[in-house]
Amino acid sequence: MTTHLNETHDPSLRSWVVSANQPQTDFPVQNLPFAVFRRSGSDEPWRGGVAIGDQILDLAAADAAGVFTGLAGSAVKAGSEATLNALMAMGSQAWQALRLALSRALRDGAKEQTALQTCLVPQAQAEYTVPARIGDYTDFYTSVYHATNIGRLFRPDNPLMPNYKWVPIGYHGRASSVGVSGQAFVRPSGQIMPPGATEPVVGPSRRLDIELELGIFLGTGNPLGEPVGIEEAESHVFGLCLLNDWSARDLQAWEYQPLGPFLAKNFATTISPWIVTLEALAPYRVAFQRPEGDPSPLPYLDSSVNREAGAFDIQLQVGIQTPAMREAGQGDASICLTSYRHAYWTIAQMVTHHTVNGCNLQPGDLFGSGTLSGPTLDQAGALIELTQGGKNPLQLPNGEQRTFLEDGDAIVLRGWCEKPGAARIGFGECRGTILPARKA
Ligand code: CA
Repeated sequence: MTTHLNETHDPSLRSWVVSANQPQTDFPVQNLPFAVFRRSGSDEPWRGGVAIGDQILDLAAADAAGVFTGLAGSAVKAGSEATLNALMAMGSQAWQALRLALSRALRDGAKEQTALQTCLVPQAQAEYTVPARIGDYTDFYTSVYHATNIGRLFRPDNPLMPNYKWVPIGYHGRASSVGVSGQAFVRPSGQIMPPGATEPVVGPSRRLDIELELGIFLGTGNPLGEPVGIEEAESHVFGLCLLNDWSARDLQAWEYQPLGPFLAKNFATTISPWIVTLEALAPYRVAFQRPEGDPSPLPYLDSSVNREAGAFDIQLQVGIQTPAMREAGQGDASICLTSYRHAYWTIAQMVTHHTVNGCNLQPGDLFGSGTLSGPTLDQAGALIELTQGGKNPLQLPNGEQRTFLEDGDAIVLRGWCEKPGAARIGFGECRGTILPARKA
């Protein structure tokens, strides 16, 4: 249902918010992503907002002004709360009604302009928080390139497990340590088995890594015991954000067998503040394709819509800014550029597989896509792949090298979609910074 284009996607639409008409903005009137914000350094209540150009439309202010009516008005009221869970729970009909009403009210010549002008807050004056109360967080593993590269490093003789091409692999992560862009966190410590040693030591991770992922926020849930079929799966998804699954590779290598990721992953996960809806991404759908000779998904993971338009062409980039670059006034340097279109499993398949056993999803639940490495090495979304396990350091433009992250390093994820005949839309930034380990 969100595969179809409608008037909100018309690339010729312009907004009375002038900055939304700049060609390189992430937030034209065709995007309209959601976040939870307040003015920086204030004790204002957190509330939902919609990005438009370099401004935020304050949904609490719009609700108080009574600008929107009907289903869209109810959605604005739900979106004015301190988390977006209530809006997420309303379902796709309400999200579509809200998007249409916002699109019409923010266009050039809209009669709502006068009332809504007083509901704008500059993004430069805002701070953000995690946009939903995340009950559960599940991290998938949907890039076959990442799974193969990582598998080769951890298990040279057996890189890709035989279940990979049949099961959308995932594990249950930790919601409490999910933070929003701007997050700075202490380098994790834990058990490490040093090379050649016979007993582990405990100490700060020396192989701290990133994972370039997309986050998928669930909207409506499903009752326990009632699976979500693939035809309905996407109607349960509210939207996508950027996600960095920080990973301590030395902790991971020692602890991961036999039950998988644990303390190597749950000390911090950073997401972008803005959630871009699936409806906004409709122009950027592409066919879901498997390499020749790979098995077709089992029938419960297959549908004609999923085959024809189940994947998304979202450009993704990772930048690193070292302390030396920051001191020299230099921005971050790009170390990876790839696209979400290379994923081996789609969003619909993730939702359907997660619920095939009757597991209940709830509004505000978060999925990670898994590291979105593409087919070539410069498209790898983790340092462990980009440096072949730390053996080949990255050369940065200022002459510095990196294998794994050092204290003070900041990582910036970016995502955007562009093509002829559609408006360019973006995700904004997802930034996180490493602080030194706690003193033992
Ligand atoms: Ca991950």
